[in-house]
Amino acid sequence: MVLNKEYALTLDRQDELRRFRDEFYLPKGKWYMDGNSLGLLSKRAESTLVKSLEDWKLYGIDGWMNGAYPWFHLSEQVGAKLSGIIGARPEEVVAASSTTVNLHQLVSTFYKPSGVKTKILADELTFPSDIYALQSQLMLKGYDYESELIQVKSDDGLTLSEETIISHMTEEVALILLPSVLYRSGQLLDMQRLTKEAHRRGIIIGFDLCHSIGAVPHELSDWGVDFAFWCNYKYLNGGPGSTAGLYVNQRHAGIRPGLSGWFGSEKSKQFDMKHTFTPSPSAGAYQIGTPHVFSTAPLIGSLELFEEAGIDRVRSKSLQLTRFMMDLIRQELMNFGFTIGNPFEDERRGGHVALQHKEAARVCKSLKEMGVIPDFRSPDVIRLAPAALYTSFTDVYETIAVLKGIMQEKHYEQYENIREVIA
Ligand SMILES: *Cc1c(COP(=O)(O)O)cnc(C)c1O
Repeated sequence: MVLNKEYALTLDRQDELRRFRDEFYLPKGKWYMDGNSLGLLSKRAESTLVKSLEDWKLYGIDGWMNGAYPWFHLSEQVGAKLSGIIGARPEEVVAASSTTVNLHQLVSTFYKPSGVKTKILADELTFPSDIYALQSQLMLKGYDYESELIQVKSDDGLTLSEETIISHMTEEVALILLPSVLYRSGQLLDMQRLTKEAHRRGIIIGFDLCHSIGAVPHELSDWGVDFAFWCNYKYLNGGPGSTAGLYVNQRHAGIRPGLSGWFGSEKSKQFDMKHTFTPSPSAGAYQIGTPHVFSTAPLIGSLELFEEAGIDRVRSKSLQLTRFMMDLIRQELMNFGFTIGNPFEDERRGGHVALQHKEAARVCKSLKEMGVIPDFRSPDVIRLAPAALYTSFTDVYETIAVLKGIMQEKHYEQYENIREVIA
């Protein structure tokens, strides 16, 4: 079958999520393929942010308990909404702090080296912040991270083998931290299997969900994952610097977090102002200080959209979009030196396509100039992320058409093949 614009339009007409596109502010005359770095603003998110500002305007200090979204319980309430899209119980999730802070919080709580069990298992492809944080946590416990942090190697520089990860789950490992979806290649790891294998060996396991939340369904509670954390500004469209999220399985409820602060108190006790800390029995315990209300408020509106769309429908459209994109790439671009770096199988890929090319840095600059917004990940990956709620099949078609034009005309040759400060 020939994939053409007609066909893209047909897919758009059949798309059961198409009404959601009108909920978003789409950059005019552009094709936005960067929703995996920063999701777009929706009218709903804008409106809940404005309402929250109104609460401040109208109530001052009384906004803690009054108004549209009282601030005192906001983190737990947004957490409960988040729990629905990751298969967790409402009390297992809280919206708080930032991604990397939550990672520090969780590792400081769950990394309990003892006897020969002192190592942390991670991988060599994960996001740098995760590795820096693990190094710090090991240093804080007096360990040398060169020997205590094990990073599973990748055979192809793009993907990881679950088999290899499992073979590193030795009796020396105290804690495992892995990404759900790898940020460069978009590989989706089998979290259920990894959790089962870790637990068979008595190892605590947590996941960084930055590249899966809002794109892929999860069943964290059923799988028994110990902990997880994520940012809300990528597929969840919570806005730049949006408050992050974390999950702790209820079997760990009531323990004292590694980094305690008064907002982690049991709510009824917080204002007793005692010097004895009583942690909340919920994931609320992992908050540290006063919530960042205006960085949380857009999420309320954004999560309404996910609730209405349903995460399973989001996933199914996302897979269809990336499948269509890969098929178009095979049809149009194979003579231009591209390879597809993400796994092809539905159960092994997240929400973006990782297109590899030796001129990737300058091809990205060219794409931007021509109205397509991708991003570049060193050394040679162009990430293209069609977001299920606002990207159409026609957008995907046009993106690949623009890219083909750039390659035919060698438009990229006018740029240097080096990345910008922000890629
Ligand atoms: C985006 C991302 C982060 C970002 O961390 P922040 O603390 O929000 O800056 C961390 N880990 C992964 C895997 C990411 O993709």
